[in-house]
Amino acid sequence: MPLISVCVPCHNEQESLPIFVEALTEVAQQMHQKDQGLSFELILVDDGSTDKTLEVMRQLHEDQTSLLPVRWTSFSRNFGKEAGIYAGLKMAKGDYVTTMDADMQDPPSLLPRMYGMLAHDKTYDCVATRRVDRAGEPPIRSFFARMFYRIINKMSQTEFVDGARDFRLMRRRMVDAVLSMGEYNRFSKGIFSWVGFETCWIAYENVERAAGNTSWSFWGLLKYSIDGIVGFTTAPLALASVAGAFFSVLAIIFLFVVVIRALCFGDPVSGWPSTMSVILLLGGINLLVLGIMGQYLSKTYLETKARPLFIVRETSDEED
Ligand code: UDP
Ligand code: MG
Repeated sequence: MPLISVCVPCHNEQESLPIFVEALTEVAQQMHQKDQGLSFELILVDDGSTDKTLEVMRQLHEDQTSLLPVRWTSFSRNFGKEAGIYAGLKMAKGDYVTTMDADMQDPPSLLPRMYGMLAHDKTYDCVATRRVDRAGEPPIRSFFARMFYRIINKMSQTEFVDGARDFRLMRRRMVDAVLSMGEYNRFSKGIFSWVGFETCWIAYENVERAAGNTSWSFWGLLKYSIDGIVGFTTAPLALASVAGAFFSVLAIIFLFVVVIRALCFGDPVSGWPSTMSVILLLGGINLLVLGIMGQYLSKTYLETKARPLFIVRETSDEED
């Protein structure tokens, strides 16, 4: 009797959540009709919402049906979507686990198809979704997103699929692999790819949010992308060494030129502009390299503290 767990991280989703649960219930009903043996559970993670999301969750838990039991957990503050996903996966008991957004951008109607693929094709351990377009997104955001994928794929051995969503259905063994990666600086897209397993991709057109607003700011996304790069490649460090070696060689050549020129032609005091240029260039590169090292150092620092990924304030499991 396979159990499917649906994990949903929620941050200020009081409007979207009921719409989502209604749609999910309908899909669960359909799937149950087709396959009586299937059962479901819904796991809601309240990631420090400041609106009535938690109350909505409590209500959903109270009104739960045997078709779709609801469990929730609530963080002590906002820990970010990554922590929300991790907490959801940890709570999930299913043989199959899916992570979804609460805003209907991950259409529940895709679930039957995703489950069908895993149930019938044993070669796959995961069915993941990617959107083929970025309709409804500010163009500048799309541009930076594309750049990010191009850069990170050049630098990292781990594959990052452009447009990949966190919406995926995984078999238990893959979920356990993901859970075994307890790193503090989490970047799910990379983690899902890093653990391996055969993944089948299905594409769909971008859907806009059903209600509410996105919790991501531009800076939030930029920080998140730096997390991704620092977490999954040390190429910038190698690049820093290469730049260092290159400029050292250049400096040695320059030194010879200066000495020979001074010996042959004497040494008239001139060349302030060139001196300034060299100082500024090298100063800039020095700072850049220090900055890159600082990024890795700061992540190492946070990682060595081994702080918990999230802190739970309340959970429905306690009350039952
Ligand atoms: N989310 C979260 N914590 C956060 C930000 C977002 O749990 O700090 C959840 C949010 O409630 C939603 C999902 O992550 O279910 C995706 O968020 P959003 O729709 O804002 O992101 P986008 O779809 O724009 O990438
Ligand atoms: Mg969204």
